[in-house]
Formats: sequence, C-alpha cells, structure tokens
Amino acid sequence: MRIETEVKLDFKDVLIRPKRSTLNSRRDVDIEREFKMKHSGLTWSGVPIIAANMDHTGTFEMAKALAKFNVLTAIHKFYSVQEWKDFADKNPEVLERVFVSSGTSDKDFERVSEILKVADCPNICIDIANGYSQHLVDYVRRVRAAYPHKVIMAGNVVTGEMVEELIICGADIVKVGIGPGSVCTTRRQTGCGYPQLSAIIECADAAHGLKGLVCGDGGCTVPGDVAKAFAAGSDFVMLGGMLSGHDESSGDVFEHEGRQVKRYYGMSSEEAMKKHMGGVASYRSSEGKSVNVPYKGAVEGTMQDILGGVRSTCTYVGAERLKELTKRTTFIRVTQQINDIFTPYNAG
Ligand code: 5GP
Repeated sequence: MRIETEVKLDFKDVLIRPKRSTLNSRRDVDIEREFKMKHSGLTWSGVPIIAANMDHTGTFEMAKALAKFNVLTAIHKFYSVQEWKDFADKNPEVLERVFVSSGTSDKDFERVSEILKVADCPNICIDIANGYSQHLVDYVRRVRAAYPHKVIMAGNVVTGEMVEELIICGADIVKVGIGPGSVCTTRRQTGCGYPQLSAIIECADAAHGLKGLVCGDGGCTVPGDVAKAFAAGSDFVMLGGMLSGHDESSGDVFEHEGRQVKRYYGMSSEEAMKKHMGGVASYRSSEGKSVNVPYKGAVEGTMQDILGGVRSTCTYVGAERLKELTKRTTFIRVTQQINDIFTPYNAG
C-alpha cells in the first residue's frame, strides 16, 4: 500500500483567476474548435460538447436539437438498427454530429457493424465503467483495425498511463472520469475514483503528448464547471445531468411533490439494469442511482446558458478563442466558490 499525499482537485475546489482583457463582448469569442484526429485522420470542427450516451440524454431528438449548435451527441446503445436507418435517412447532416456507442462484447461489435452498414456515422464511442480492463484495450484495437477511418473515443480512465495505452491502441479521444457523475455511486460502492479536475489536467497532458485528445466526462453541474473542464485541458466535455429533464431527453414528464419532473438514472443503476438486462446480476452491485430532475423544457435554452457561460469565461481571461482558454488560465484553490444562500442552481 502507498499513499499519494499531493492534493487532487475537483471543479468545486478552484476558480479561474480573471485577467486583463481587450475583449469587449462575449460575441467576440469563438467557442468552436477544430481537431485533426490522430488515427482516423478526420478533421472535426464544432463546439466540443457531447451529450452523454445514457438512455435519457443520448437520444436522436437530443442529437437533432444539439446539432443546431454544432454540438455532438453520443447516442445510447438501445436503438435498433432499423431506428438508426430511419434516423440516418432523414437526418444526414445530424449524423455527422453523433457517436454510435458500444460496450466491449462480441455482440456490441456486431451491433455497431450492423448500424454502420445503414448509417454512415463517422464516430464510435466505446465505453465501459472501468476502462482499466484489458478487454477495452483489445476491443479498441479490434475496432480500429475494422474501421481505420472512424473517430474512436474510448474510456473511461483517469490516469495518464492508461490514456497513453488507449491512444497507442487506436483511440483518437480518451474519455476521462471515474466516479464524478451526478447519478454515479461508484465512489460510494467501491471507494475508487479520482477528482475530476486533476484527472483532466493529468490525462490531457498525457494525451496531448501523443497528439491524442481527451473528453472530460461527468461532474459538471453548472456552466462554470464546463468552462473549468475546458480550462483544465479537456478537448471535449461530456454532459449528462446538465442536459437531463428536457423535452429531448427520454421519458415522460410527471408530477412529483408538486413539481414537474423527469426520471434520470445512471446506466449502471438498478433501474437501467432492470430495463435492459432484466435485473441486477447476483455477482455485481448497482453503481448508479435514479433521481427525479426538474422538467426544464427545450434543451435550446439550457444550451444557450452553457455556451453563454463558456463565452463569458473566455472574456474574463482574455481568450478570443476557446482554444486559448487553457493557456490563459490560472486556477486558484478556494474553500468556497458559490454563495448559495438563496435557491441553489437548478433547484427551480
Ligand atoms: P453527469 O454529467 O451526469 O455528472 O455525468 C454523466 C456521466 O456519468 C456519463 O457520461 C457516464 O460516464 C457516467 N455514468 C452514467 N451512468 C452511470 C452509472 O450508473 N454509474 C456510474 N459510475 N457512472 C455513470
């Protein structure tokens, strides 16, 4: 056993220090980025935010709404091949902005192959809760060999050596985050995880050294957290909870304790396992929870709020483009960042 005593940080532990700036308006800020993918060779440009591939947020409706902002969606694993075909036929331009999601089984491989035959989607997201498993590395190699020109995002991991391994094996983007998610109970169940801001800083450093990219996944609760993730070096940021509860999220609106809500659950929660696998297998515990989230209407309003926040962050540090945010950022450690004497954010 070893103890590492260096403090690791979460979004809540820091603020971004404002800097003298000549930018007059948020309108002057360019929050689009362009990336050349290491393995696939494709060039992608857009706003580097990705809706999470969860039942609730990774829907075709979400993809259509977010594509208007040049934002990406990782589509969840539970649409049929026919549903993919219909979507692709009707929305060829949105297809450019989505990921097909995959686990690491043979069945996943077959399913992804079937989907890619009917929907020429450029991006594949391969993720499992514990990205340290050799299965993931082998599977990424297999998918890379079969699809040399697709963008592959793989995860989730939280340390530099595993980021390097995945990039060397064929991932263009590595997804970073174990335990920070809003409906995740991994830290409670296993005691494992890594504070998300430090995970992003360390993983981005490892990835960029190999010309790979990272996607910070989980733990963003307010637009300021999204900005901090970018400032920490995240090339992409994946959002679940912040995009939950909208018209484009799956599930019905219902009334709970006098409020309009929707159901949002973790993909390893009992609710998800019951829905997709007929129950929780006896050898495993659930590592996610279910919550009722306030109903928030169309996702467009939330997206404007998030993008407005990130633009504003850039003006506070004088970054004309999102690309410059990291090098213009000094994080300061804080003991309190938000005054929430009145209503907490999103509590309605
Ligand atoms: P959020 O933006 O809600 O904080 O985090 C979303 C991320 O949480 C997802 O992209 C995924 O990586 C992670 N996640 C989703 N469901 C579960 C779950 O049931 N258990 C765990 N450990 N993580 C989950």
